[in-house]
Formats: sequence, C-alpha cells, structure tokens
Amino acid sequence: MKIAFIGLGIMGRPMAGHLVAAGHDVTGHDLQPVDFGGRFADSVAQAVREAEVVITMLPADPQVLAVFPEIAEHAPAGALYIDFSTITPQTSRTLASQWKRTLDAPVSGGEKGAADAVLSIMVGGSQDDFEAARPIFEAVGKTFKLVGGPGAGQFVKAANQLVVGGTYALVAEAIVLMEAAGVDAGAGLDVLAGGLAGSRILELKRTSMLNREFAPGFRIDLHHKDMGIILDAARTAEVALPMGALTAQLIASARAQGYGSLDHSALLKVVEGLSSR
Ligand code: NAD
Repeated sequence: MKIAFIGLGIMGRPMAGHLVAAGHDVTGHDLQPVDFGGRFADSVAQAVREAEVVITMLPADPQVLAVFPEIAEHAPAGALYIDFSTITPQTSRTLASQWKRTLDAPVSGGEKGAADAVLSIMVGGSQDDFEAARPIFEAVGKTFKLVGGPGAGQFVKAANQLVVGGTYALVAEAIVLMEAAGVDAGAGLDVLAGGLAGSRILELKRTSMLNREFAPGFRIDLHHKDMGIILDAARTAEVALPMGALTAQLIASARAQGYGSLDHSALLKVVEGLSSR
C-alpha cells in the first residue's frame, strides 16, 4: 500500500520502519528529516498526495489538529486515515466527522513494543475501515481490536494509561518501602515480578528504576497529557476515579519539579521525595 506517515518520533520512526519492511511504499514526514528506511517528504502535502493510507503519530491534540487540515486538503478523497496518537476522544470524533474513512488507533507497548512490532492497538471506527487497516496493524502490532465507533479507541487508551500510571506509582512505593527497610529491593522486585503483583512494568522497568535510569521511553509530559484525557473522560462518563486522580497529582508534581522530559518511571523521584529519601 502507498502510505504517508506523519510524526517519526520515538514511536513513529520504528513503526514506519516496520511498514517499509512489510513491503509497503512509505513516505514519512516530520519537522526535521528522519531516517526511517523509507522516503522522507519535506511537507505534509507532499507526503500525502498519492497516499492510500495516511497515518499520524503525533504528541497530542494541538499537533494533530495542526496537521489534519493539510491532510484533508491534499490526500486523495478515498484515502484511509489512521491516527495512532493518544488524543482526546472528542478530537478523534471531530476528525471522523471531517474525513469519511477515519480510525482512532492509539497504541500501548512503549518504545520497546514499537521496536519489536508487538504493540497493542485499540481501534475506534467502522468494521470496514478496521478490516482495510488490518495489514498495517499486523505490521506494527500483535493485539488489535475494534472497540467501538469513532473515539472508542481513545477511551480504551485512557483506561490503559490509568492502569499504567497507577502501576508505576505503586512500584515506586514498593521500591521506597523495601529500600527504607534495608532489604534487597532487587531480589524483592524479582519475587514480585513472579507472583500476582507481576506486570509488564515490573518485567521491563524494574532494573532501570532501581538504577535510577530515567531516559524516555514515555515522557512524564505525555503521561500528564494522558491523565488530563482520563479525568476529562471520567467527568463525561460521570464516574469517580480516585486512584486516577491521585496518580494525576503525582504526575503533575513530577512535571512541576522539572521531570517532564524524563521517562514516566521517574514517578519514583516524586514518591521518594514524599519521604525525603
Ligand atoms: P515524540 O515526541 O517522540 O514523537 C512525535 C513526533 O511528532 C516528533 O518527532 C515531532 O517532531 C513530530 N511532530 C510534532 N509536530 C509535528 C508537525 N506539526 N508535523 C510533523 N511532525 C510533527 O512522541 P512519541 O513518544 O513518539 O509519542 C507519540 C504519540 O504516541 C503520543 O500521543 C503518545 O502519547 C503516544 N504513545 C507514546 C508511547 C511511548 O512509549 N513513547 C507509547 C504509547 C503511545
């Protein structure tokens, strides 16, 4: 397929690379030239002009809304538009109301999931468009599901970020407790990872957290954005999410303390600070 891929950052670059490797004809665009294995275009217009599928993987609502009018103006009318970015459900619905074949398809799995092409993808849109996008999802992901109409993928991604943020906060508390008690926290986390407390976060991040290595990964700034989406979604759905609200405050504190460009596992620094450690 002829694919335009806009946003070649931590996630977009390896995803676009996998699409090239799967035999697709990929034209990429970003603010700066990026080497991803395909052709680089200097503008959105140039990238999308002949595309059958247009993909965006951008930081947040403002960037998607900035790029979308240029896509709508220059892409062929029948093109399928897939937005992999994590944005508000409302914005996803606005895009779907303005471009007939639109899927919101936020992803989970982090930088490693993108590098290994094993992302989980939560998709909102029509069954026909989901089926048309299947070869693309297969090239970058492992688990992908149509979860409802426009915007539905973003609600599921909000649920995902709720669990991820809360899990980081609790793993951080577990580390602080074990270190303060003078036990072997590394061995402790190994045991936790093998039991009911086990998670992908413990599996992938326990060593870097213990070593206080916080290079992103997934930036605190982006998780802060996601907590806003989650609490907004909760207000819309008229439900209470107390753990989510607490996690949002810890992430806001991380950001306020200047950790916005660190990985979200840097929540550990905030939790340590609460006990002056
Ligand atoms: P990133 O900042 O590394 O990449 C975004 C890219 O978009 C950058 O290269 C930036 O230059 C480009 N960009 C911004 N504005 C642009 C414009 N107007 N035109 C063209 N390019 C533009 O971010 P990321 O970590 O790759 O995250 C992208 C999205 O994926 C976010 O919505 C994030 O929440 C989500 N996400 C990230 C991860 C992760 O682990 N990093 C995991 C799951 C989902």
